[in-house]
Formats: sequence, structure tokens, C-alpha cells
Amino acid sequence: MPLYAHRTASRTHGFTESVIREMTRVAREHGAVNLAQGFPDFPAPDLLKDAACRAIRDDDNQYAITWGSPAMREAIVRKYRSWYDMEIDGDREITVTCGATEAMAAVMLALVDPGDEVIVLEPFYENYGPDAVLCAAVPVFLPLEPPDFRLDSDHLRSLVTRRTRAIVVNTPNNPTGRVLDASELEAIAEVCRAHDLLAITDEIYEHIVFEGAHIPLATLDGMRERTVVVSGASKTFSVTGWRIGTIIAPPRLTEAIRKVHDFLTVGAPAPFQAACAAGMDQLGPDYYTTMLTEYRERREILVGALGDAGFRCSAPQGAYYILADFSALSTEDDRTFAKRLTREAGVASVPGSSFYRLPDHGRGLVRFAFCKRAETLREAGERLRRFAG
Ligand code: GLN
Repeated sequence: MPLYAHRTASRTHGFTESVIREMTRVAREHGAVNLAQGFPDFPAPDLLKDAACRAIRDDDNQYAITWGSPAMREAIVRKYRSWYDMEIDGDREITVTCGATEAMAAVMLALVDPGDEVIVLEPFYENYGPDAVLCAAVPVFLPLEPPDFRLDSDHLRSLVTRRTRAIVVNTPNNPTGRVLDASELEAIAEVCRAHDLLAITDEIYEHIVFEGAHIPLATLDGMRERTVVVSGASKTFSVTGWRIGTIIAPPRLTEAIRKVHDFLTVGAPAPFQAACAAGMDQLGPDYYTTMLTEYRERREILVGALGDAGFRCSAPQGAYYILADFSALSTEDDRTFAKRLTREAGVASVPGSSFYRLPDHGRGLVRFAFCKRAETLREAGERLRRFAG
């Protein structure tokens, strides 16, 4: 008989373990190259590392202001001004969080009521569904179809009901690498304006766009006042373990978001805020150009290796993932195939079903991350070629 004391809250019952992190563990067990979880295996910029060490030595070791240190918020104001020509009130419109993950959860808990519907573009990053469930909201999925993963604006319109509260938009996208173009963003903006909806944008890959430039949805007409912009330092500065996320939202929304954030975590790590502020302020255009050049090279290596090994995939437009079709290699389902690929080829990926509501839709797909050193990716490529052999 299980102890009554061991009962768990019903809101967790639909959650599965994060498949991304599960695959990281499977990779470790088998000594596989981990192309599953999206974290870099190369160093963060010295400037940030030095600034973090200095902050710790200078005893910047107590709570920062719950919604972000002044230096960090000032750097964020300058960032949005110089990159996107957006004017942000650093005192009333910014919240600094423990990663974009906390940011998304805090935003939804602060702004979405039980019973509200939240539209999520599918395939999606695995957190958005559970985030909605934590608020007792209902995620409603808008499928984007391969190979192009374009947004169908009629379909989007057809999903809006009286209960729709928000649309979650992640561009550049994890897992597809799709970057929504101006007309797709405009279609989303039109729906938001017409139905008085909120847009919650996850822009964590904003600086990894291979052609053209990132356009924040908030910069479109009438969108600034109805958009919550989530981003962070993890991907831009290769510091996924520092847990520094950022939220930009109109003052009224920020007030609610800050309360939730305060009760969840009090604040993001003070020394890492200091270091990320230094990174935003002091790393110039060269840093971003070099980062993109390196990501382009990594992308080419992995796209080439996957093609040689018999996967079907195209070069992503942004972010650092490739969603690859393995149906020419195996008729197994994605979980079975991903586990076997880890064991037999020594390369870990994420099963495609983790990014779909119905597992069947991701059945023939696995996701590879290419935020790895060129030599790591070459080694993975060799292993995949041998496996396909
Ligand atoms: N965003 C990364 C990924 O998609 C890390 C996920 C995670 O472990 N939270 O792989």
C-alpha cells in the first residue's frame, strides 16, 4: 500500500520527465557524443568569466534587487535600443530571472488564468505545454508542417476562441531552426490586435540567425503594448549554467510578473548578472560576427554528416538544432531509434515526439544540437557514417 503521505499533486500527473535531460543521462551511460541537450561544449567568452570572478571577489554575493540589478537592467535597456530601436523603461518594464525557463513559467503564472487557452506553435520546445498546465490553462496547438514549417494564418485565426489569452511564439525556433519571416510575424500580430491577445515570445536564439536579422514581434505596429519578450544570456554568451533570463513587458504586466518571480526564486544570481551586463555592454559587433561564423561552420558539418548518413534534413535558418527525418534508416519509432543510435552509433539525439502533442507526429524524427566544437561534430559525423555504413 503506498503511503498517503506519498501522494503527489494532480497537476504533475500529466508531466513526463524531460526527454532532453533523460537523453543526456543516456548519453553519459554509453559514452556517446551528446548532441541531445542544447548546451555548448566550448568555453564562454573570457570577458564574462573574468567579470563573474571579479564580481564574486568584490563580494557581489548577496541578493540583487529581485527584478534585476541596476547594472543589468541598464545594460538591457541599451541592448534593446541598439539592436532593435526599442525604448524600454528599465525601472518598470524589466524582470531578470533564473533563465528563460523561469521567465516563461513566471510570465504564464502571472498573466494566464485557469481555463484560459494558450496557442502554442507545434513542434514546440517541451516546456510550453507544462507551463500552461501549471496555470491550469489549456494549450491549443497550431501545427507547422515540414519541410518548411510555415505558419498558416487561416489556421491560426481558426483556433482563436473567446477563451484565447495568449500566443507563444519561439523564433528562431527550437527544434526546427525556423525563423518566422516578416509576413508570418505580421499575421500573428494581426490576430493579436484583432482579438486583443497577448503574445509571449521566446527569443533566446535571437543572435543566432543565419540569414537576415532577428525581428522582435514587439517591434510590429501595436505589438509593444501586448507582447512579453523573453530572452536571456544562455545561448548568446554560451553560459547555459548561469541561469540568466530576461523579460520585457509593459509596466502593468511587469508588476504581476515581478511578484511571481519574487515568490518563485527571489532573484537571479547576482555575480552572473554583473557578468552578463558586462558582456552586453562590452562585447562589440566582432563577437556576434564571429559567433555566427562559427555556428555556420558547425551547421555545415552536421548537415553534411547527417545527409551522408542517410538522414533527411535541411540547413536551419537559425538557432542551433536540426530536426532530421530518419525514416530512410529505420522504421523504429523515434524513442527506440534515438536510444539505439546512442548505444550503437555513440551519438545522442532527442526523439522527435518530445516536440509534439501527439507522439506519432514526431515518430520519424530526431533532433540534433550543433552547439558543439567542430571536432565534436566531426567525431559525431564519423560515428553516424559508420553506423549507417
Ligand atoms: N534549450 C536546450 C535544449 O532544448 C536545453 C534544454 C534544457 O535542458 N532545459 O536542448
